[in-house]
Amino acid sequence: MTDSKPSNAPLALFETLPSTRTIPHISLATLPTPVKHLEKLGSEIGCRSLWVKSDDQSGTEYGGNKVRKLEFLLGEALAQGYKEVWTVGAIGSHHALATAIYARQVGLRPAVLHFPQPVTEHVRKNLKAICSTNPVLTLASNKLTLPVEVGKAKMKQWLSTAQNIYYIPGGGSSPPGVLGYVNAAFELKQQIERGETVLPDYIFVAAGTCGTLAGLILGARMAGLDTQIIGVRVVDKIMTNAAITAHLANKAGKILRAHGVQDIPHISISDVTLLDDYFGEDYGKPTDEGMEALGLCAKCSDVVLEPTYTGKAFAAIIGERERLDLANKNVLYWHTLSGADLSARIASVDVARDLPDGYQKFFEDDL
Ligand SMILES: *Cc1c(COP(=O)(O)O)cnc(C)c1O
Repeated sequence: MTDSKPSNAPLALFETLPSTRTIPHISLATLPTPVKHLEKLGSEIGCRSLWVKSDDQSGTEYGGNKVRKLEFLLGEALAQGYKEVWTVGAIGSHHALATAIYARQVGLRPAVLHFPQPVTEHVRKNLKAICSTNPVLTLASNKLTLPVEVGKAKMKQWLSTAQNIYYIPGGGSSPPGVLGYVNAAFELKQQIERGETVLPDYIFVAAGTCGTLAGLILGARMAGLDTQIIGVRVVDKIMTNAAITAHLANKAGKILRAHGVQDIPHISISDVTLLDDYFGEDYGKPTDEGMEALGLCAKCSDVVLEPTYTGKAFAAIIGERERLDLANKNVLYWHTLSGADLSARIASVDVARDLPDGYQKFFEDDL
């Protein structure tokens, strides 16, 4: 595995609002991520101008949208002297994987409470990859008993032995994590000012735990970008909704205020746009529109989508073309899936040797 080489460029947020430099932060990501014109794909879909913000390239060890959040989350954990980080996610969780990889890299011990999800090849790869970080893994029996099991596991396994635990909620969507995407909006503003891209009328992004969306909404407002951010819901409404998004944005705003930023805009529920029509039947369950988007991106661009998040998000661009008159608009698709190569990690793991007993069953059946 190669060493992660974060760029030394100062964060756009810190450059623009110097008082925020006192916010705990650690460089993990390769920033700024490129922004590219998708000419062929745009004309295929019928968008006047289609761009991609390539957060797939946000990290060498692992990319996607979680790295930006972890810069502030792990930065805070280190600043507060924690030794172990603890988080939750489905067995194929990108967030759990990103957290484990970067926690190890900065010298923190990763621990994950997993819950099952339908097993796919992607899930198996992520499970193997997370094992390469030698994390503490615990498996809850299902999503519904998770809160109880979180409590039990916390009490039994860790609080007795290691009390020095920094907790990161699912998806990394706590207020410090949201700052990663406030910064991302300032980063886009700089790229527009440098002429690397145009001011988008619309930004489309997948919304799960809503931290990415919340950060972009607050950040775009603060940076003075006249852009509508459109979240495409890919998780149940109980997790993905405008109330949670606005709440997260305002909590992140509070951190910025505590670090000297004045005139933080208040984000209300009506400031949040979330599309419900691309979710389909369930989290992780592919939709026809999502699969069509996957195929179209593969045919006309080098943007690689998957069915759970990014396929559904991109399907919304195709699906909203008429309603939002995208033939006369500038559209930015914010890509949130890691493009990092995990093959060395995956090859280093032996399922029978390295995964805890309860996990063996995820590798037994033919897919
Ligand atoms: C986690 C994730 C998301 C959702 O981001 P949130 O901040 O949780 O809304 C979108 N796309 C991919 C690929 C992800 O892994």
